[in-house]
Amino acid sequence: MPPASSAPLPNDLEAYWMPFTANRAFKKSPRIVASAKDMHYYTADGKPILDGTAGLWCCNAGHSRDKIVQAIQAQAAELDFAPPFQFGHPKVFALAARIAALAPGDLDHVFFGNSGSEAVDTALKIALAYHNIQGQGSRVRLIGRERAYHGVGFGGGAVGGIPGNRKAFGALLAGVDHLPTTYNRAEQAFTKGEPEWGGHLADELEKLVALHDASTIAAVIVEPMSGSTGVLPPPKGYLQKLRAICDKYGILLIFDEVICGYGRLGYAFAAERYGVVPDMITFAKGITSGTVPMGGVLIRKPIYEAFMKGPELAVELTHGYTYSGHPLACAAGLATLDLYKEEGLFERARKLEPVWADAVHGLKSLPNILDIRTVGLTAAIDLAPIADAPGKRAFGVMDKAFHELDLLTRIAGDSIILTPPLIISEGQIGEIVEKTGKAIAALA
Ligand code: PMP
Repeated sequence: MPPASSAPLPNDLEAYWMPFTANRAFKKSPRIVASAKDMHYYTADGKPILDGTAGLWCCNAGHSRDKIVQAIQAQAAELDFAPPFQFGHPKVFALAARIAALAPGDLDHVFFGNSGSEAVDTALKIALAYHNIQGQGSRVRLIGRERAYHGVGFGGGAVGGIPGNRKAFGALLAGVDHLPTTYNRAEQAFTKGEPEWGGHLADELEKLVALHDASTIAAVIVEPMSGSTGVLPPPKGYLQKLRAICDKYGILLIFDEVICGYGRLGYAFAAERYGVVPDMITFAKGITSGTVPMGGVLIRKPIYEAFMKGPELAVELTHGYTYSGHPLACAAGLATLDLYKEEGLFERARKLEPVWADAVHGLKSLPNILDIRTVGLTAAIDLAPIADAPGKRAFGVMDKAFHELDLLTRIAGDSIILTPPLIISEGQIGEIVEKTGKAIAALA
C-alpha cells in the first residue's frame, strides 16, 4: 500500500465547497481517498478501493505510474514554468508534435489549455475567429446537442444540453441551438457498441440550416460518444452524415473528445474509430492520465494556415492561458503517451471491449435495470428511478459500492457509469461487474 496522508477530521470538511457534489450529504458520510497506485485508490487507513472509473474518466494508464511520476518530478526540478506568450520550452513543441502524429487526417496543429472546459471554449472561439478572418463574420451561431456535456465555461455550458446544468445560469450565450439527442431507449435498449437506429437524426441539422441560413452558423460541436450524460454511442452513420452536412454548408465540425480521446474507445481518438475527420478535436483528461491538468484543441491544417497570414508581428490569435502548455503538464503528457505506446493500451482497450461488454451486459437480469450500454471500456447501467427521488437509487449504489464493496463507481442521474483504467485485467473486469451487481441487488 502506498503511503497515505491522514484523513481529514469532520470539522475540516466544512471550508471546501465541492464541485458537482451534494455537499451536505457528502459531509455527513464522506468518501475520501488518500493515495493511489495502478488500479486502486486507498483510504487513509489503507483500504484498497478498485477504481471502476479511472478517477473521472482520466487516469487511463492507471494511477501514480512510476514513469509519469518521475517525469513530473524531474521537470519540476529542471524548469518549473515558462511564459507561454512569445516564449516556449522544448517539451511543449515535442508534445504538440506527438499529439498531432496520433490524430487522423490533417489535424496537425495543437493549442493547449488546462482543462476540457477551456479546450471547448477555445475551439468555439477559434471557429468564430476563423469565419471572421474568412470574411464570414455573420457566422456566429453555435450548435450543440441535447444530453451533451461540454464543460462549464460560458461557451461549453451554452452548447451543452443538460437541463439541470443550464437552469441555474440562464442561457449563458445567445444564438445557440441544439440537435436532438441520439438516444432512444425504445429503439436502442441493451445495445453493445453503436446502435443501428438513429443515424437519420443527423438530418435535423438540415432543419437548423433551413431555419437560420448557413451564413449565420459557425460550428457544430458533438461528443462522438456522449460520456457524462450516460454513455451514448453514436448511431451507425450519424457522425458521417453530420460531416457531410457541415461540408455542404461550410460549417465547422468539432468533436469533443475530452472523454473519448486517448484510448477510451480503443483508438487514440474516436474520430479514427468512426472514420470521420472533424475540423477540430478537443481533448483533456487522458493526455496526462489525469496527473497534471491539461487540455487542448487539435486543429486542421487549413484552419491554422488561414490565421498565418497578414503582418508577421501580429499575434494571430488573441487567446491563451498563463498555464497553456505548462512544463509539468507537457512532461506528464509525453511520459503518458510513452506508456500508452509501450504497453499498447489503446489496442488493449480494443481487445478487451467484447469481454467488458459481455460482462457488463450480464447484469441485465438484475431488478430495476432499464438499459445497459457499452462501448470501448465504458458502460452505463440505467436504473429505474424511485418516484419523487431522482437519482436516489444510483446514488445509493455508488455509496454502497464505495463504503461496503471497495469499488469506485460514478453516477449520472439514474445511471451507474463504469470506465476503468485501460490497464485493467480480465479478473478485475469480473470484480467490478460482480461488485456493481451486488450493490444494485442490495438497493432493489
Ligand atoms: N467535455 C467533455 C466531453 C467532458 O466529458 C468534460 C468533463 N467530463 C468536459 C468537456 C470538461 O472538462 P473539464 O472538467 O476538464 O473542464
